[in-house]
Amino acid sequence: CGIFAYLSYFVEKDCRYVTETLLKGLARLEYRGYDSAGIAFDGKANNETVIIKQVGKVSALRALVEQTDIDLNQTYNVQTSISHTRWATHGQPSPVNAHPHRSNDSNEFTIVHNGIITNYKEIRTLLANKGYSFATETDTEVVAKLLKYVYDSQRGQHISFPDLAKAVIKELEGAFAFLFKSIHYPGEIVAARRGSPLLIGIKTSENLAVDFVDVEEVTGSIAAASINEEKAPAYAKRAQSRSFARADGSSQPLEYFLASDPSAIIEHTRRVLYLEDDDMAHISGNGDLHIYRLRRDDGLSSIRSIKTL
Ligand code: GLU
Repeated sequence: CGIFAYLSYFVEKDCRYVTETLLKGLARLEYRGYDSAGIAFDGKANNETVIIKQVGKVSALRALVEQTDIDLNQTYNVQTSISHTRWATHGQPSPVNAHPHRSNDSNEFTIVHNGIITNYKEIRTLLANKGYSFATETDTEVVAKLLKYVYDSQRGQHISFPDLAKAVIKELEGAFAFLFKSIHYPGEIVAARRGSPLLIGIKTSENLAVDFVDVEEVTGSIAAASINEEKAPAYAKRAQSRSFARADGSSQPLEYFLASDPSAIIEHTRRVLYLEDDDMAHISGNGDLHIYRLRRDDGLSSIRSIKTL
């Protein structure tokens, strides 16, 4: 039902700030109605994802976060955190059926999902035949497990997160807005939509305002490049060499706020990029943003410009 994510690059934030930002974002989405809520963030140690979820109100989730034995004072230079308010379609409202969902006990893949995967039973059967067992009744959990299945089937060969996500989404029917997070891709997030809204808020530090204009143009051309699969390789270099990095190559503080609804973003930044149906956004470990198409183009504009809310 509601999606919110907070990503920070080269900004020291402690886990308390991160969980607080997620809970506030979810509270902004409460008006849409929901039956349960949950968050996932980098915690404990590098490369470990913490998931906390609960039925009922965001305030009930907040109470659970306050009881956690995770040390919320620890800080991270890069943080990718995701959250969700659920309106159950498959599987009754319960703590385990709440999102984020995960691939396995060690949270290799953690995902949130709005919408309905109509062919989830077929995928569930396929994975069950491969030895997978399921902790929930949801359509969403099969997608988390399919990510792990496809990842493992590469047998150690490197596959990029967007390539993996694209391979998984190719198998799905129905409607979705997704966020994917993985301990195998620290600092990275994949976001994709088909029939469910998703937008990305971008916040850079004010003293880099001049660069920011440049970022806006470059993001436009990255999108234009990546959106057409045939042209993507030719443009990839150019996108990489300009991206969000400073001219001198040092890293600039950067924060992203992804949401299903601008009301959760506006208090943080007014600069937003709306994804179109069948867009897949990838934010890399150093904060670069790329947009790809999940399907061949269909007359859509190849530019995803940053707008001001
Ligand atoms: N179909 C998913 C579920 O039942 C997502 C529902 C939603 O959009 O909140 O868990």
